[in-house]
Amino acid sequence: MNHREFLPSKVLILVIALSVLPVALSFAGQSPGSIFRDVAVGLELAQAGTITPDKPGASTPSTSLSAQQERDHLLMLAALSYTYASLTDRPPEGYDISALIAWNVQDLNKTPDFIIDRNRNYEKQGEVFHAQANAIRTAYDKMRDFNIPPSLAGSERYLRYTNDLKNATLYTTLEPCPMCETTITMAKIPLAIFCMEDPGLREAVTPHETKPDLKVPTKFYGRELVEKHSDLADCSQADVSMWKTVEGGAPGSFQITSYIHQNSEKIFRPAWDELACSKSKYPENSQLLIELQKATGAISCTRP
Ligand SMILES: [Zn+2]
Repeated sequence: MNHREFLPSKVLILVIALSVLPVALSFAGQSPGSIFRDVAVGLELAQAGTITPDKPGASTPSTSLSAQQERDHLLMLAALSYTYASLTDRPPEGYDISALIAWNVQDLNKTPDFIIDRNRNYEKQGEVFHAQANAIRTAYDKMRDFNIPPSLAGSERYLRYTNDLKNATLYTTLEPCPMCETTITMAKIPLAIFCMEDPGLREAVTPHETKPDLKVPTKFYGRELVEKHSDLADCSQADVSMWKTVEGGAPGSFQITSYIHQNSEKIFRPAWDELACSKSKYPENSQLLIELQKATGAISCTRP
């Protein structure tokens, strides 16, 4: 029996959640840890309504993390929806990978500003114009200050931009490749949340373990990146279907970009529908939801 089919299942999530529940409940000042702990504890505790605050100063322990989780879900839905919105006019594979960068995501008193970009290998005729790297450049473009006085010293100029993304979170529809992982770390983005796993970065028999020889440093030059697998249901479902296809094919024949391209409607349409039909449970996220719907065109709910 292959365990892969069961890894993303609710059964395994429940088992893991129960096994780590005592640790999770005593966890204070939580920093993002393993994928399993975050996904399992987040899902199960959210359903149970017994979430403890993840940062000092949270207003009400029982709601702050849930509002944060809703915010994370909406932002990931927008990244997926942005891809879906572009599918009607699409070049060959690779195009349908998107990344969204949002600022102040963890501050529930603020409505996060954000940008979205996607893979542009096709238009730019190259192999390095990945969604995550493009999003970082777009984010810098947005933050660029054209009014820095020429008289300002070089060190002061550096300080004007060096921390532009230090308070940002990156959401991406596909797990970042080593190049993008390094770029995200260089940009000082502390947290990246991805939707689908990339089997090309993993051992065939252990889908949730990155290949040892493909691990890249995510802590250097005073920067540190934490990567998390999104706990959005659409992402779990997309992963389950994708891993089944990996199992069903000849060894070494699977290509994630081809798979996404061939299954784009199935992968991205549910998220677009969900975003279009979303109603924010928390006032902290209501304006963000409107902005995300506008940015992706997911503005009218057509789901029965
Ligand atoms: Zn990449």
